[in-house]
Amino acid sequence: MFGICGPDSDAARLTYFGLFALQHRGQESAGISVSDGETVTVYKDMGLVAQVFDEPTLGGLSGSLAIGHTRYSTTGSPSWINSQPVYRQIGHNGIALAHNGNLTNTHELALAAERNDATTDSELMTAMIADRMRETGDSLPDALAEVLPSFEGAFSLTMMDRTHLIGIRDPFGFRPLALGSMGAEWVLASETAALDLVGAQFVREIEPGEMVVIDSSGVTSHHPFPPTEERFCLFEFVYFSRPDSILLGETVHRARRRMGVALADQAPVDADVVVPVPESGIPAAQGYSEASGIRYTDGLVKNRYIGRTFIEPAQALRDRGIRLKLNAMPGELAGKRVILVDDSIVRGSTTRQLVQMVRDAGAVEVHLRISSPPYRWPCFYGMDTGERSTLLAAGKTEDEIALYLAVDSIGYLELDRLIDATGVGASTFCTACLSGDYPTDVPAADAKYALERN
Ligand code: AMP
Repeated sequence: MFGICGPDSDAARLTYFGLFALQHRGQESAGISVSDGETVTVYKDMGLVAQVFDEPTLGGLSGSLAIGHTRYSTTGSPSWINSQPVYRQIGHNGIALAHNGNLTNTHELALAAERNDATTDSELMTAMIADRMRETGDSLPDALAEVLPSFEGAFSLTMMDRTHLIGIRDPFGFRPLALGSMGAEWVLASETAALDLVGAQFVREIEPGEMVVIDSSGVTSHHPFPPTEERFCLFEFVYFSRPDSILLGETVHRARRRMGVALADQAPVDADVVVPVPESGIPAAQGYSEASGIRYTDGLVKNRYIGRTFIEPAQALRDRGIRLKLNAMPGELAGKRVILVDDSIVRGSTTRQLVQMVRDAGAVEVHLRISSPPYRWPCFYGMDTGERSTLLAAGKTEDEIALYLAVDSIGYLELDRLIDATGVGASTFCTACLSGDYPTDVPAADAKYALERN
C-alpha cells in the first residue's frame, strides 16, 4: 500500500512508482485512487503494476492526493471485483480504502452490519464506514473513530476522501506502515523501500493502534483503539518484506544475515559449499557461510521474469514445475556436499523438487538449513499460507520432514534464536505461524486447530 498527499503532487504517478517497490507484497491486482479536490477516481485491474497502468491511464488520473494497492488475496478470491482500492460514493464525496492484513471477525461483522453482500473483509470495512458517514453526516476521520474499534485482526489501512489521506494500523500492529515526507508532501508506504524509490525521507512508523490524518494543514495523530501490546508479524522479517526495508528500526537484510549466522551455530554440518535458494535464502546463506567458513556459491539461478502470477501451464508443461523458476548449475554442485539454505518451508512442494534438482546436478549430499522454525500453524493475519492440512510441518517431526524432502539432514532455526537475530525484543512479535500462539481469537471455522499444539 502506498499513499501520498501534497500541494502540487503528481500523486497518481508517484503512487505508481511506489507500487513498483511493493510489487512483492501482492501480484494479483493493482489499483490507484486519486483526488483532484472535487472527485475521487479509481482505476484498478487484475495483474502486475506494469500490466495495469500505462501512460494514457496515468495521464487520466490527475490530482494531488492518492492511494494505491497491490493485492495478494487472503479473504475473498483473486478476482476483479475484489481488487483494491475499494470505493464508495457518499453524496458528492467519495471514499477509497486499501487494506493489508486480514480481519478475524469478518463473519460476525457482516451479520451485525447486515452486509451479506460484501465479498471481502476490505469491502465490508468500506461499506461500514460509508454507512456511518451516510447515517450521521460524519466526516471520514470522525466515522473512522467510531467504526474502527469494531474491527478485529490485522489491518494496516490507507484511506482517502477528496481532501484527507489517512493511515491506520490495528492495535497489535501486525502489518507494517511507514510515514515519510518529501518537501511539502506526506507519504504512507507499507515498507520503507517504497519511500526510498520515490525519494521520500522516512519520518517514523505509524504506531500500532494509531490513525494519522493528513490534509492541507498537516498531520494529526489519533488513537481510536484501547491500548494493546504490539504483535508485529515475525514472518515479515523472515520472508515477506524486502531486504532493503527497515522494520522496527532494523534493516531486514542484516536481520536475515544474522539468522544465517545463528543457524550455522545451531545446526553445523561438514560440507563443501553453502548454496542459497534465490532470492529469499540469500542473506541467510551469506551469514551461514561467513560463520561456518564454508564457501558460498550461487548454485541455483532464478528466472527473474516469472512471478507468482505466472499462468499455470498445461499439464504436460506443469511437470517441469520448479524448472520454470530455477535452474541448477552442475559446475557448482557436482560432486559437492551441499548446504542448501532457505528462509522457510510452507507446503514443501517447491523445496522437494528443488532438492531433487540439486541432486540431479550431481550433489553427493544435500543438507537443508532453514532460517526459521517449522511453519506449522495457519496465519489468520494476512499471510496466505493455506490451511493447516497443507502445511508440510504440521504434525510432523523434523525427521519425518527430512524423509519427505529426501535430504541427508535438516536444521531449522529455533524461535528464540530467530527473534534474537531480528534485534527486536521478543514480546513485540506475533509468532503464531511458528508457535501456535495466536494473539487474538481466531475464526470459529478453524478454531479447532488452535487448540492442537504440535
Ligand atoms: P514450499 O517448499 O513449496 O513450501 O516453498 C518454499 C518457498 O516458499 C521458500 O522459498 C519460501 O521463501 C517461500 N515462501 C514462504 N512464504 C511464502 C508465501 N507466503 N507465499 C509464497 N511463497 C512463500
